[in-house]
Amino acid sequence: MKLKKILAAVMFLAVIYELSARPKNVIFMIGDGMGFSHVKATSLYQHGEEGKLFFESFPHRGTVTTHPAGSDITDSAAASTAMATGKKAKNGTISMEIPGSGRELKTLLEVYKESGAYTGIITTTYINHATPAGFAAHSVSRKNYKEIARDYLEQTRPNVMLGGNKKSFWGSTFDFGRARVLGYHIVDNRESMISLRTEETAYLAGVFGKGHFPYEKDGLGDLPHLSQMTRAGLMVLDNNPGGFFVMIEGGRIDHAAHKNDIERMILETLEFEKSVKIAYEWVQKYPDTLLLVTADHETGGLEVLSSSGKGKFPAVRWSSYRHTAARVPVYAIGKDAERFSGEMDNTDFFRKILD
Ligand SMILES: [Zn+2]
Repeated sequence: MKLKKILAAVMFLAVIYELSARPKNVIFMIGDGMGFSHVKATSLYQHGEEGKLFFESFPHRGTVTTHPAGSDITDSAAASTAMATGKKAKNGTISMEIPGSGRELKTLLEVYKESGAYTGIITTTYINHATPAGFAAHSVSRKNYKEIARDYLEQTRPNVMLGGNKKSFWGSTFDFGRARVLGYHIVDNRESMISLRTEETAYLAGVFGKGHFPYEKDGLGDLPHLSQMTRAGLMVLDNNPGGFFVMIEGGRIDHAAHKNDIERMILETLEFEKSVKIAYEWVQKYPDTLLLVTADHETGGLEVLSSSGKGKFPAVRWSSYRHTAARVPVYAIGKDAERFSGEMDNTDFFRKILD
């Protein structure tokens, strides 16, 4: 009996040690469609030189392969599933074992939530779009917007949800009434988000506008910038002494790249970079924080031909209007950041963060 008690105590301590060995806070930032050339073009525009974006100075850098199950080229759903669960899935799948059993795959966000951390998803696309959905929902199809929004509220319940509002002929796919009942503080414009008393907020839903956010180049009206959502979200998330996990997406880099629109692509990437700078403040405040900056795939087959100088858009060539199989970058700083040096696959994020 006594031996059993000692064994139980040892096991308990081992579990505690195992949990505390992980980064306490994880800020997982995804530039949707942001390949190496997107980063290079943005640095040339902003600094007149390559390699000068803030996150390019992170001490640990690597390359990531992105292929999904059964294809060479991924969509955002399969890529998000791979990063969030460590498993390859078929394009279009939101964190379910497809091909395979069809069961739900546990996501990084869910693992952190179970360990008592606060969790969040922040994006400039619809809040229930593929990339955030991969972290906080389960569905056979990325197009099941209502089901994904329902998973957010009824299953994963992230503390912070900030993004665009998917609307259709039947109205919003996000159930504001239900969110209120569940204790979410709801904001729907920049002012109400910025003036929020974050210290007293445990659940925050900001579901803005009528669709994806406008591009930075076109002006956001009364919607918040990604960097402002990043700050507001982190101020809520760090209220929990048990840590947090948040996915933050620059979602419209991909959309501009699909249109081969270099100006909008660069301005979106700059706002994403600004958001990374804000996230880094939390790495400085809480050294037990891992900050990752990566992409889900490359979009556009972009190649930079030459610099046009600081403040001017560089000369580029696009070879596609779609996603490509090109490797994408990863930049890491903070706790366990050294694990992200060199070559890796998108399914490795899960293990490298949790092991
Ligand atoms: Zn895309």
